[in-house]
Amino acid sequence: MAEHMNTPLPHWEKSGNVMWVSCRSCREWFPCAAELVSQNKIELVCPHCAACFKPADAADTMNP
Ligand SMILES: [Zn+2]
Repeated sequence: MAEHMNTPLPHWEKSGNVMWVSCRSCREWFPCAAELVSQNKIELVCPHCAACFKPADAADTMNP
């Protein structure tokens, strides 16, 4: 039984197409793939407080 390191590496590091999102709960900033933010289909999970919210509900967003 092979054991794989199945770490979900974020692709934004390579693409550089990143948007910064401010958590609606704790207002901390974290990066997210810009295409995911613009689609607004997914829920973001704040790495600081684990809050889930749609990109449209983010406290703020910015392009670096
Ligand atoms: Zn948060």
